[in-house]
Amino acid sequence: MGTYAVTGSASGMGSAVVERLRAGGHTVITVDISAADVVADLSSPAGRRAAADDVLGACAGRLDGAVLAAGLGPTPGAQRRITEVNYFGVVDLLKAWRPALAAAGNAKVVVFASNSTTTVPAVPGRAVRALLAGDGEKALRGYRIFGRYAPPIAYAASKIAISRWVRRHAVTADWAGAGIRLNAIAPGAIMTPMLERQLATPAEARQVREFPVPIGGFGDAGQLADWVVFMLSDAADFLCGSIVFVDGGSDAYFRADDWPRPVPARRLWSYLRRTREFSERKPR
Ligand code: NAD
Repeated sequence: MGTYAVTGSASGMGSAVVERLRAGGHTVITVDISAADVVADLSSPAGRRAAADDVLGACAGRLDGAVLAAGLGPTPGAQRRITEVNYFGVVDLLKAWRPALAAAGNAKVVVFASNSTTTVPAVPGRAVRALLAGDGEKALRGYRIFGRYAPPIAYAASKIAISRWVRRHAVTADWAGAGIRLNAIAPGAIMTPMLERQLATPAEARQVREFPVPIGGFGDAGQLADWVVFMLSDAADFLCGSIVFVDGGSDAYFRADDWPRPVPARRLWSYLRRTREFSERKPR
């Protein structure tokens, strides 16, 4: 039995993950803005620091896994909180928890991304790059020109940036090399309090209902939690840096031919360089 930290544990998919882990006999340290073992506001650096420290204290320096589910949807006027919680609320906690995850030897981390990463058009690459460089203010300035569409753009940018952060770090010596499997799940529209709030707002409800979902309907929070628990299990030992889409087919509908795609000839040298760099890595 292991010890797991779960953020966003008080509601929706995070709560469903906690239920399943506890039913499986695991110890879970829950983190949320209320109703959790560790009550913290992940929208501020101080809140994130407190959450990180409290979890490290509670797990005695060893974590078998972590699930980062805390997040805000594309809430009107909430661009700053979306940025703080959805991006920095993952990165800051994972950086702090990495040594405890490494101490377990075979830890698994699942980050909640979204299929908004590939289905929301016109997300500015500059904002995504600013987030990856740690500059939230620059990203926020870049959303202003989108006016009332700024929240969905900020939401998609936060999830693109966190997906890239996962893929960049998952393969490094600090993560894969330390036995930590770092992956993300990208849900489509899943029936949780977050989606219920969107459906209660007429303008947002129309967009949600018009959005193409080949399977039809909305996803089930419990089923998504089953995927997460699977990604925390031994079955995921060979899963590393993957973004697992569970979205009823929306991503495939819009972008069937976008991925997988061959490495273009112009990238041959960087491809060979990456291959050489890998073979030169010191064995751990
Ligand atoms: P939810 O609203 O039911 O749960 C989110 C949780 O995050 C809540 O318990 C909330 O209190 C917590 N949270 C929000 N702000 C916080 C803060 N400042 N500090 C600490 N905790 C905070 O949402 P959900 O639908 O279960 O979403 C879980 C994750 O999945 C989110 O990251 C979301 O972006 C992502 N997601 C959801 C959907 C969907 O359709 N529901 C689709 C794609 C991705």
